[in-house]
Amino acid sequence: MDAVRVEVQEEIPVRTALAPLQPHGLGTMYVESLSSYFQRLADQHSVSPKLIAREFVLPRLGFNNRVGEVQSDRYWRSSFFNGMGEVPEQWCKVLGELTGVDSLRRLTLLPLNGLVGMHGSSSAVHRWCPRCLYESEVEDRPYGQLLWEIGCVKACPRHEIHLISVHGCGTEEAVPPLRIKPLPHLCRSCGRSLSLSSSGDFQPADEAEVSFARAIGELLASPLFAEGPRTSDRTIADFLSEVIRSHEGGYGIKAVRRIGATKGEVSEWMHGRHLPSLPQAAMVASAYGVPLADVLVGRGIDRLHPNPWARDSRRGVFSPYKRWGMAEDMEAQLQQFLRLSIPPTEAEAAGMLGTSSRELRRLYPEQCRAIGERRAQWAEQEATRRRDERLRVVEELVNQMVCEGVIPTIGRLEERLVGIPKAFLFKERSACKRTCEVGKAKLGS
Ligand SMILES: [Zn+2]
Ligand SMILES: [Zn+2]
Repeated sequence: MDAVRVEVQEEIPVRTALAPLQPHGLGTMYVESLSSYFQRLADQHSVSPKLIAREFVLPRLGFNNRVGEVQSDRYWRSSFFNGMGEVPEQWCKVLGELTGVDSLRRLTLLPLNGLVGMHGSSSAVHRWCPRCLYESEVEDRPYGQLLWEIGCVKACPRHEIHLISVHGCGTEEAVPPLRIKPLPHLCRSCGRSLSLSSSGDFQPADEAEVSFARAIGELLASPLFAEGPRTSDRTIADFLSEVIRSHEGGYGIKAVRRIGATKGEVSEWMHGRHLPSLPQAAMVASAYGVPLADVLVGRGIDRLHPNPWARDSRRGVFSPYKRWGMAEDMEAQLQQFLRLSIPPTEAEAAGMLGTSSRELRRLYPEQCRAIGERRAQWAEQEATRRRDERLRVVEELVNQMVCEGVIPTIGRLEERLVGIPKAFLFKERSACKRTCEVGKAKLGS
């Protein structure tokens, strides 16, 4: 009797406030994003995402009604909703309780929290692969992928085309605005499927973009994105110190060259002062031929395949006797350095060619000048790019505070800033203050 009763009890599903909708693509590269899931969840109950947010989620997050009303539609449309901050953390918890589905963290970048920095992790615009969407529509389960929400991913690894962010809506067959359903595969302005493109021909992505997208996709399919908390506290810092000891003869500079980062960056990652961004971590992984998921948790050192680039650096220690034989080769290499996306300094160039700066300047004064100029120009662009990137993170943090109904201030920014030196807030104080003011104004409206 008892056994029968137990069996019956097990079959009674747990009652939850909302339907236990299952996410699509779990455990694959093409895992669904939280924003897509949230829209489908609302649709399953025949209501808008806004209503679910206002009635079910925001009260559980301690919002008062006034802020709740203003914010109820902002969250799931914002770029950090699928990221690794507090907002996705809280929403996954609440939505998990409401639906009884406990895998929702896997639809965001939360599993990467503490392993990579935020830079490049969320896309400011909504993007998609029209062919993936078409295929998911054919299978009658259209959904949006987490991969499309990651800013540094530019291509679809399956179809090897660029992700797109513009629908090219036609006026024909457009759905009246009020009848447009918020669903992951429908255009927010014309209401038609995003798999329909006006031009029909999709731009092929280049090899580097595709392999980068694939590396990130493999990360999403890795055990890091499986259920359950991380069991190890190892990070990329452990990977770097071990790889330098075991494969670079203890010379950090060799790792710096192989990875293509700066000395300062590598040292900060190694000492855990800053986390590398997702693209930077991918550079480390590709420099050593190890899956990104392994590098991030300090594994894979026993099976790496270092990129031969830096291994050649000590080849043929410079000797004047070899000068004529090597001249042509050196000149060609110097030319090549000018075309690198991260051009070396004169000293680095000399190091890579196995000679001294002085000798290099004596033999190739023209090329050395060009290398110096190219490097200075790159450094300037890099500084601007980094400043812009950091200001965007500040803006994102301010938006996050606004969504939470918190007044954005420099002090609060400082508390939340991860992956950016705090000195930045002081150096760019006026720009950051302006961003806070804009946020305050939004909160007041
Ligand atoms: Zn695709
Ligand atoms: Zn459209």
